[in-house]
Amino acid sequence: MTPPFPAQQQEPPGLTGRMDPVPDHGETSYVGRSRLEGRRALITGGDSGIGRAVAIAFAREGADVAIGYLPEEQEDAEATAALVREAGRTAVLVPGDLRDETVCHEVVAGAVDGLGGLDVLVNNAGFQMARRESVADVTTDDLDRVMKTNLYALVWVTQAALPHLEAGASIINVSSIQAYQPSTSLLDYASTKAAINNMTVNLAAELGPRGIRVNAVAPGPIWTPLQPATQPPEKLETFGEDTPLGRAGQPAETAGAFVFLASEREASYVSATVLGVTGGKPVF
Ligand code: NAD
Ligand code: MG
Repeated sequence: MTPPFPAQQQEPPGLTGRMDPVPDHGETSYVGRSRLEGRRALITGGDSGIGRAVAIAFAREGADVAIGYLPEEQEDAEATAALVREAGRTAVLVPGDLRDETVCHEVVAGAVDGLGGLDVLVNNAGFQMARRESVADVTTDDLDRVMKTNLYALVWVTQAALPHLEAGASIINVSSIQAYQPSTSLLDYASTKAAINNMTVNLAAELGPRGIRVNAVAPGPIWTPLQPATQPPEKLETFGEDTPLGRAGQPAETAGAFVFLASEREASYVSATVLGVTGGKPVF
């Protein structure tokens, strides 16, 4: 999808149906090849954007899927669940604000109950705020929301999931091009994504002896509700233009990386890596 996009704005967390154009999550294009047959996956932030594309792909690859999301995103979560069920798989809805440790445990427990266990954890929920120019504009509320959503929740959800994960399980964290090329307006967010890369290496080292692989996907500019909900409206007009491929990516274009990393057949010796899906920007 090539810029220019129409300028647009929503309040966080943003909804899919209010985007112009509506993103492509692979609804009509993703073809599964039984690469995740019988696997049980929890995708935080699975209602929309990258998480929805991953949910569709995982279901068409044969996985049952639990979707974490914020209560105000119910309509997006239900749309994603319907797509999972259309693929003939089980969808479990586990709403809750992951900035609360207790809620993180409840969300994981709901996923485990609904799916009958857990094999794949995708720590995809994330938040940024980019409507500012300088570190002087970063509020304490922004800091709390970004750090709690991107880092605390990742640790809490992983802690809650670990007792349920067995050898062959896969954890996939969501990093960002911002870990490598941080924007001035995203100082706090970019730092969480760099920390997520570090945590990915830490966790891979700790969990390797248990046969659990831990990796990350680092997206570049992807057309999702997060962008109109958190960027200045005019910034969206040229969104993705500065990549070597000259355009923003669609959520659908990120799904293959997650399927690969989740697959015990195809990525059995892949751990502690960060896979870039950036339109050509380097992730090293
Ligand atoms: P998105 O808004 O569709 O998905 C983010 C999801 O995070 C939301 O749907 C919401 O359900 C969840 N979330 C946010 N705060 C939460 C909270 N407190 N409790 C529970 N859930 C919460 O946007 P997306 O772009 O698909 O984002 C998915 C991931 O991709 C994020 O980690 C984001 O940082 C990362 N990412 C996105 C881009 C991009 O350009 N879109 C680029 C790099 C990385
Ligand atoms: Mg959403």
